[in-house]
Amino acid sequence: MVRTRFAPSPTGYLHIGGLRTALYAYLFAKKNDGKFILRIEDTDLERKIDDANEIIYRTLKNAGLTYDEGPDVGGDYGPYIQSERKDIYLKYAEQLVENGRAYYCFCTKERLEKLHADGATKYDKHCKNIPLKEARKRIAAGESYVIRQDIPVDGSSTYTDLVFGDITVENKDLEDNILIKSDGMPTYNFANVVDDHLMGINYVIRGVEYLSSTPKYNYIYEGLGWEKPNYIHLQPIMKDATRKLSKRHGDASYEDFIAKGYLSDAIINYIALLGWSPKDNREKLSLDEMRELFSLDGISKSASIFDESKMRWLNSLYVKELSADGFHLHAMPFYEKLPYLKGYDLKLLSELLHGRTEVFSDIAALTEFLDKFDGYDLALLRNQKWKTDESVAKAMLPELIKIAESGLDGLSDRLVSYSESAGYKKGQVLWVFRIAITGSAVTPGGAAEMAALIGKEKTVERLKATLKRL
Ligand code: GLU
Repeated sequence: MVRTRFAPSPTGYLHIGGLRTALYAYLFAKKNDGKFILRIEDTDLERKIDDANEIIYRTLKNAGLTYDEGPDVGGDYGPYIQSERKDIYLKYAEQLVENGRAYYCFCTKERLEKLHADGATKYDKHCKNIPLKEARKRIAAGESYVIRQDIPVDGSSTYTDLVFGDITVENKDLEDNILIKSDGMPTYNFANVVDDHLMGINYVIRGVEYLSSTPKYNYIYEGLGWEKPNYIHLQPIMKDATRKLSKRHGDASYEDFIAKGYLSDAIINYIALLGWSPKDNREKLSLDEMRELFSLDGISKSASIFDESKMRWLNSLYVKELSADGFHLHAMPFYEKLPYLKGYDLKLLSELLHGRTEVFSDIAALTEFLDKFDGYDLALLRNQKWKTDESVAKAMLPELIKIAESGLDGLSDRLVSYSESAGYKKGQVLWVFRIAITGSAVTPGGAAEMAALIGKEKTVERLKATLKRL
């Protein structure tokens, strides 16, 4: 059975690249009726961040990437948090020492610093030659030590990545990494192998930054007599041709995009396409469809560029598909942030905004006119197409005020018959009316819709205020 895992470090922030890795691991498992596992890798962290694990659980669940096993859902291979597994690793490292694949190292910080200062680019195997007996004596005497992997000096290592094909790395380019630190904790380099093995992971899907260190991990598998997993490395998501997407470069997290008014389905759909495409090159895909269509040969060998305008476009398609109630529900938190909307018929506002909203945060700009009417630029009354300007508006407005004062029912028809009887074009009247009550050229609806939203009292009040300024 296919078993994949997502193994994030809990940094308090699940960036888009991480979420994409999780998505592909999830899709690959589901496509193959396998299991998707969540493992928290917190052994290398300098300091713990509150809620960091919860952010990961929450994000994956909200995004629909349901994991079959994980810290908060359990499973047969737990614990699923590395720091809760710390007693597991040492014995395997010692087994590697026994097998001659690792050694105890007593080098002090000072020695290592000097080595680097002298130009060494990697550890010089200084402690490799200490006889095991002597090393054990020193440990028993309480000397501080680490366990290092013993990488062959000569030759090269080759493995097959399922995206990149054969990868060969010269052994001289690999370092004798620390497997167990002086505090007894494993490093990522060791824990990922031990955990993947013990958790039965047979497909490792992760960022391309691990592509060239994977031979080191394979030496560990071999040293312990374990079967190696399949590897799938993913190219990064870039901000542009040269820069990786990073938090500094606006790599918002899933939750940031939700807060900005993107729909979860649209975010997941978009990030799926950042490095993968289905055979038919379809762009709008639900998670269910992706589960059906996902395949490794659709994974790209080159980096993808994050294009928010494309995600915005996809989002607009998902927004249009919402029911009226669904739209309203999603819009509510955004209305709540705009105090000037108090008192308006928000259901009606939702009806008006539904077809015009690409991302929910657009609501602020789309309704701004409700807040900023006073002192609007009267030049907006000018419209070449409709041949209107301030003087046309001034001539029309007394009658428009009367029409509004007699109520808003059938307003649209009444404005049209007024235009006919007064010898105006329909568009002329509607333009003046709409600008005079909104002070904005861009509004989420026409004259009558805006009047209905604003209400009779305010409509009359605003028509009068415009007239007064002319
Ligand atoms: N904890 C590692 C990371 O966040 C996981 C890498 C892997 O998937 O093996 O980069």
